[in-house]
Amino acid sequence: MIDEKFDAIVVGAGMAGNGAAYTLAKRGLKVLQLERGEYSGSKNVQGAILYSDMLEKIIPDFREDAPLERHLVEQRFWMMDDRSHVGLHYRSEDFNEEAPNRYTIIRAQFDKWFSGKVREAGALVVCETTVTELVQDAYGKVIGVKTDRGGGQIHADVVVLAEGVSGLLGTRAGLRKIPKPTDVALAVKEMHFLPQETIEDRFLLKGDEGVVIEAAGTISEGMTGMGFIYTNKECISLGIGCLVSDFQKTGRSPYQLLETFKQHPSVAPLIAGSEVKEYAAHLIPEGGYKAIPQLFGDGWVVVGDAAQLNNAIHREGSNLAMTSGRIAAEAIFQVKSRKEPMTAQNLSLYKTLLEQSFIIKDLKKYKDMPQLLHIQSQNFFLTYPQLVSKAMQNFVRVDGTPKIEKEKMTLKSFTSARSWAGLFGDAFRLARAWR
Ligand SMILES: Cc1cc2nc3c(=O)[nH]c(=O)nc-3n(C[C@H](O)[C@H](O)[C@H](O)COP(=O)(O)OP(=O)(O)OC[C@H]3O[C@@H](n4cnc5c(N)ncnc54)[C@H](O)[C@@H]3O)c2cc1C
Repeated sequence: MIDEKFDAIVVGAGMAGNGAAYTLAKRGLKVLQLERGEYSGSKNVQGAILYSDMLEKIIPDFREDAPLERHLVEQRFWMMDDRSHVGLHYRSEDFNEEAPNRYTIIRAQFDKWFSGKVREAGALVVCETTVTELVQDAYGKVIGVKTDRGGGQIHADVVVLAEGVSGLLGTRAGLRKIPKPTDVALAVKEMHFLPQETIEDRFLLKGDEGVVIEAAGTISEGMTGMGFIYTNKECISLGIGCLVSDFQKTGRSPYQLLETFKQHPSVAPLIAGSEVKEYAAHLIPEGGYKAIPQLFGDGWVVVGDAAQLNNAIHREGSNLAMTSGRIAAEAIFQVKSRKEPMTAQNLSLYKTLLEQSFIIKDLKKYKDMPQLLHIQSQNFFLTYPQLVSKAMQNFVRVDGTPKIEKEKMTLKSFTSARSWAGLFGDAFRLARAWR
């Protein structure tokens, strides 16, 4: 067992933990990072889109050797009913830029690379080690951790909790509550392998270009949730997730939804003939701003998914995770530089810096969205996608019906499904939650 004292112990080697450990080690702090998985990335699940800007702020030259799949040139949003999708596609040659803005990645490879950088920066990274308990002094200050390797306690001035969405350590120590089923989604994901040329033909890509499809509608059967399809070099990541509370209520399983999603006529041709090599399930924090727990205390800070920092509206999580890790590390470094103790008062700097960043600003902007989507899930994820599909079909089908009649039919289908008051109410609630 390690019996020296560290400036910081980082629990977890996902995006948040690696962002924190790397920044701390680069600033010259003595860092121990503990990860329960066999290696960094072995336990991590993501779609996965990587947002360059946030990684550049940590490792500016990451493009030189990071394992990146494709850079994204096209984003498709699909509103689906059982037989159709209405799509908004944005593709731009601007995304074929020298330093692309978004990439697809495979977390097992990417996190391993990131962890190598953490080691190079000077942190001691120990895998296959689960932190079982936070050690607190008589006043409740966190002063270290215990692990499943036995051998007593390991001490540090501050512990960075980057343990992911379930956050068991923090909850066990009474630092935060267990996330509510309405605040977490359960997502499943598969990797469909196909020859590189097949992927490029099906998605109209050349070289390392990639496409992302975000899909919502009847695929979630009225539950709050979404599906996704991301292109990697030689495989397609495909998945779907819904709120845990909705799965509890309906008795449906994410696996059933995934099967239906794969068989949808818009999806099946994209993955036809593929070989499925990986299947994973994972929770995603989706409670937004109102679900953020206490972020710091005497001797501890919490970052990434463990702090519920996830923007479900924009499907961003890993960038919030690595940025919150970096910001926490910068706050810790500042306190350390001033030779002050890691008290709650001093560590509140982390929250201040976080509030100045895009993370809290974005989550605050959408603070009412999670609740609205949850309460109105039947309308937003079932009724409207069906109505919009019907309206589109009515619009494009040429069958001799006068256009004025068609417009009346479409309007009637909306008002009989939701009534005028319902339609205006939904539009108003959506606009208010979006502002
Ligand atoms: C299906 C799916 C698709 C997603 N797609 C995207 C996407 O496209 N883009 C995006 O930005 N985000 C996406 N996300 C969200 C993103 O994956 C997370 O926000 C991000 O991984 C959070 O990073 P983290 O470091 O906080 O947590 P994690 O990546 O979960 O890392 C936590 C780490 O802590 C370790 N750990 C936990 N407990 C202990 C312990 N007691 N001791 C030691 N180690 C411990 C775990 O093994 C793990 O390695 C997706 C999530 C899912 C589930």
